[in-house]
Order: sequence, then C-alpha cells, then structure tokens
Amino acid sequence: MRSVEDALAGIVAMAARTTEAETLPLASCLGRAPASFVLTAAVDVPPFDNSAMDGYALRSADTPGRLRLIGEVAAGAATLPDVVPGTAARIMTGAPLPRGADAVAPIEVVREDGEVVEAPATEPGAHVRDAGHDTRAGESVSLPDELLGAASLGLLASLGLGELDVRRRPRVAILSTGDELQAPGAPLAPGQIHDANGVALAAAISEAGGEPLPLERTPDDPGRIERQVVRGAAEADLLVVSGGVSVGRHDHVRDVIQRLGALDFWRIRVQPGKPLAFGEVRGVPVIGLPGNPVSALVTFELFARPLIRRMLGLSGSGRLTLPVAARERMTKDRERRAYLRVEISRGADGLEARAAGGQASSQLRPLAAANALLIVPEGEAAAEAGRTYDALLLGAIA
Ligand code: AMP
Ligand code: MG
Repeated sequence: MRSVEDALAGIVAMAARTTEAETLPLASCLGRAPASFVLTAAVDVPPFDNSAMDGYALRSADTPGRLRLIGEVAAGAATLPDVVPGTAARIMTGAPLPRGADAVAPIEVVREDGEVVEAPATEPGAHVRDAGHDTRAGESVSLPDELLGAASLGLLASLGLGELDVRRRPRVAILSTGDELQAPGAPLAPGQIHDANGVALAAAISEAGGEPLPLERTPDDPGRIERQVVRGAAEADLLVVSGGVSVGRHDHVRDVIQRLGALDFWRIRVQPGKPLAFGEVRGVPVIGLPGNPVSALVTFELFARPLIRRMLGLSGSGRLTLPVAARERMTKDRERRAYLRVEISRGADGLEARAAGGQASSQLRPLAAANALLIVPEGEAAAEAGRTYDALLLGAIA
C-alpha cells in the first residue's frame, strides 16, 4: 500500500501544466486564480495627499490659534484654495490637502465662529494620508497563493486595474457510474439509489476553482462508460470517475481506461478511500474515486483538489490544519491513516473534536455535519480521548 503523500506526489507530478491565462474584467474575477501573483504598482495609492478626517486643513505652525476660514474642499475637488499663514479651509475625508496646509484638525476639536475657526495645537502631518502611503508606484504587490477574494479584488481596483489575467478554470469532467444510480429527485425503482456523487463532486470542483463538466451518468456498461470517458478526455483537463473502479465483477472503469490509455490501481493507506485509480486517457489525467460518497469526497479532497489547484498555479490544498484534542475515543483501521468526520468546537482547554456521527464511508450525514477531518496516523487503532491530532479544517468553528 502507498502512503497518502506518495500517491499525492505521483498525481500532482503527472499534471504540472497550468491552464492558459485569460483576461477578465475585475468584477468577474472572484474565485479565479491570478495568472501572476506579483504585480508592479503603476500608481501611488492614494494618488495624492488627502485628509483622513472631516475637519480643517491648516498649517500646524499656526496652531493653537484663531484662523480665517477661506473655503471648503470636498472629496473629488480639483481646484483647491491656498492655505496661506493664518488661514484654514474646511476639508472632508478623502479630499485633497490644499497647498500650504500640512495638517488637519478634526471637526470635533475645532470651534467655528463665523469666518473664524479656533484650532487646538496640531502636529505636522496630523490626519493627513500621504500620497503612496499604502502603495508606491513601482512597488511590488503580492497576491495570496489563493483564489481571489473580496479584499484582493478591492486592492487591484485601488491599484488602477480594470481587468486582470487569470488562469482559465480547469474543466473537470465528472462521470458517475453504476447500474443502481438514478438522477437526484427522480423516483427510485427497486434496487436504485440517487446519484449523490455527481452533484457533490461538481460542487467540490467549483470550490477548488475548477469548472465542472458533468458527463452522462452511465450504468456498469463498458461501451457506455467508454463513450463518456472518450468525451471527457476530449473536452476536459481532468476526468474524475466515481464508482466501478474496484475489483467487483461489474467494475468496468479500469478495463475501459486501460484500453484507452493507462491506469494504475493504487491501494492507499487511507480511510476512507483505500482503492484509487490514477492514469490518463489521451494525455488527460484520470482519477478513479471509490463509489461510496464519503470515500469519493474525501479522496477528492486529498488528491483531486490539490491537482486542480496545481493546474491553477496554486500550491497545496488551500486548507488549514490545526492541532485539536479528541474529546472521545474514535476507532479506525490500524493500518491506514484515518480522516475522521468530526465537529470541532471551543472547549475550556482549547479546540476539541467529537465524532460528527458514524464513520462508515457510505454515511453522508456526518460528513455534511462535520467542520473538519481529524487525521489519525497509521499504526494506531483509534483516536484516543484527550490526545491531540491534526485536523483538516473544512468549515467554520462555531
Ligand atoms: P463501487 O465503487 O461502484 O463499488 O460503489 C461502492 C458503493 O458506492 C456502492 O454502495 C454504490 O452503490 C455506491 N455509489 C457508487 N456511485 C455512487 C454515486 N454516484 N452516488 C451515491 N452512491 C454511489
Ligand atoms: Mg458499482
């Protein structure tokens, strides 16, 4: 059996190629990966000295003192009064600092009395935001090794960009296989179950930054599986197949892929998700996930998500791992590393994890309830109450 690290290294190495860049308006870049993580600022931010407060622009050397009011400067003003000695101008937050002024006295501390204001002692530079105090033209600005979020998009807009080069979202074809599968929402005939993996994997692909391409759900029929695999290889950057990869008499996915390309069948020291298939069809990587929904999603998390991120030029899994104390004993397979579905909460001594429900690989409810996967190493028969383990965070901690 292979370790998780070993399998992951093999998978990620196989698809080191990033997708090409495309230029999009900034407003369409949420959740996209920037083509470049370091930019050179073209402008000063802010572009000019301006007031951080509503108040009075003045000369600090004139304070404390009574100053003659000579006008008003609003945000966006293009023509500005000259603040000569003994004068002040009303100024609004974000308005350009008028020539001559070197400080702003906030409205709260100034008494305005007709054409005269009485300003207290004010330091040079008080409440003034200097041009370029956030970013100077020519400075390097780094974006996080992550899909773009609200703050990064705001930053890019403030730097003067209206559009950005981002990686094309890798197209990930999804194939659900199994005679028993029926479309979500459709009535079930005897022996049928709803296809949970198709929609779950599509969502996981989107979350990872990919573009899901659902193929036609197929029964355990080699010819029909083959048609969909060929289509996936033609249209996608990665093909994810769930179900039918094992060694049962009706598991045809392996044979089909081996005929069309190449496939390694791996036993991985991981629970859930021991059997995993990895290979390629016409140069497109293929990952065969176990059919049980929890196994499918956890192995997607461990192996497919980092691969999609790699295609986007992002590293790692983008997940946070935290040390968390197990609050109860949770048994596992001694040979394999377990990713137990847990709920993490704040206890008296820090973060603690409890089982989110049963740990069978068919049980989706505990996975949906879990906010983390507790990682319990190979060689141990259980997570022991009171001991600390790494937890891979999937959601927020209440
Ligand atoms: P398999 O990997 O084909 O041996 O399937 C293992 C288990 O997962 C079986 O109980 C299947 O019914 C179930 N399964 C396979 N594919 C899906 C799917 N798309 N949605 C829900 N359960 C599935
Ligand atoms: Mg099956």
